[in-house]
Amino acid sequence: MKKIIKDASLLPYNTFGMDIKATVLAEYDTVNDLREILADPTIAALMQAERDKGNLPFWHIGSGSNLLFKGDYPGVVLHCLAKGIRMASTNDDSSANREGACRLEVKAGTLWDDVCAYCAEHGLYGPENLSLIPGETGAAAVQNIGAYGVEISDLIDEVKCWDVEEGKEHLFRGEEMGYGYRESRLKHAADKSRYIVTSVVLKVQKARKLHLEYAGIKRALGIENVSETDLLASDRPTLQEVRDAVIRIREGKLPDPKVIGNAGSFFKNPVVDNSVFEALLAQYPDMPHYVVDQEHTKIPAGWMIEQCGWKGKNLGRAGVYEKQSLVLVNRGGASPDEIVRLCRTIVDDVEAKFGIRIEPEVNLIG
Ligand SMILES: Cc1cc2nc3c(=O)[nH]c(=O)nc-3n(C[C@H](O)[C@H](O)[C@H](O)COP(=O)(O)OP(=O)(O)OC[C@H]3O[C@@H](n4cnc5c(N)ncnc54)[C@H](O)[C@@H]3O)c2cc1C
Repeated sequence: MKKIIKDASLLPYNTFGMDIKATVLAEYDTVNDLREILADPTIAALMQAERDKGNLPFWHIGSGSNLLFKGDYPGVVLHCLAKGIRMASTNDDSSANREGACRLEVKAGTLWDDVCAYCAEHGLYGPENLSLIPGETGAAAVQNIGAYGVEISDLIDEVKCWDVEEGKEHLFRGEEMGYGYRESRLKHAADKSRYIVTSVVLKVQKARKLHLEYAGIKRALGIENVSETDLLASDRPTLQEVRDAVIRIREGKLPDPKVIGNAGSFFKNPVVDNSVFEALLAQYPDMPHYVVDQEHTKIPAGWMIEQCGWKGKNLGRAGVYEKQSLVLVNRGGASPDEIVRLCRTIVDDVEAKFGIRIEPEVNLIG
């Protein structure tokens, strides 16, 4: 099944609530449908026109929960409709097999939280801390989504793609994906213009293995004072209890895009050299921070934005969410320009105060 819509509104396809248009929106179910779309003469011509301007030939979207179109998009927007989760075979040399895990193949258009719900129901450990992150599984593998001490790259065995240049399928093993903090090779132009994720193979564990290092999860489960040894010896909390706790925490502090337009964390948390970190700590002894490795420390961008006085403030109809300064929100009717203006003002203010230039996590398109 495929749907090609000309002059399509992307309002239902972005969580910022921007009513912008794409010259063509093409949705597909199977890889064959995708091939036919890419071979369509009108679509091929639009893609070539974008290439000639030095742009990506197309934009592939998921649920639009981590992007901001800066205006109408003059090219082709692609979207995968294929959904489904199935147990995949485990070949002898797969990393999943070596770790005693089982493999799940998930079609790119499957909502990520449906995968987390499926795993909790079937007693499969791994994705529970990533519960309720909006968006689709194909995008999750591109973005390397993360929360509460877990990243999807910890779970990825393979990413199956359609290679637009060669016109054939291509498989990346997890270790070939160039994963880092909210980072993968598929975020960069050379691969982004070439590969479309069609399905993701996850390795999940049947044996009980929870990630409860994050104090907020322990607090939500009422187990702050239980020792690691006691936790290991007990069968509580259950997988479902951890998933429910993560959902409660997220619902308490993040805005629901159905109610208030947003794209989650707008900025990445900067990772700085320890020399920079130590100089800042001398100036701001209460500064929160997380050790990344022996030479680098991560500083929460939300804290820096708050120190600049932006928490809960607005610039026009764009604002900074009152419960989490990392999140920019559409207060109602904001244009993409208003969000971009707020973003730039915050970046400049943070740089002026801390000497660190924070970068958007959200994909700015156009
Ligand atoms: C309220 C809220 C909370 C959030 N919390 C978190 C969080 O805790 N942790 C976190 O990491 N993120 C979080 N996010 C960000 C967002 O949910 C993730 O980045 C998510 O993976 C985006 O999925 P999507 O389907 O909406 O992708 P989109 O925003 O549509 O696209 C994201 C990127 O993926 C690419 N892409 C999409 N599908 C494909 C495909 N099939 N093939 C190739 N490329 C593709 C797009 O081109 C784009 O570069 C949050 C967002 C919101 C709104």
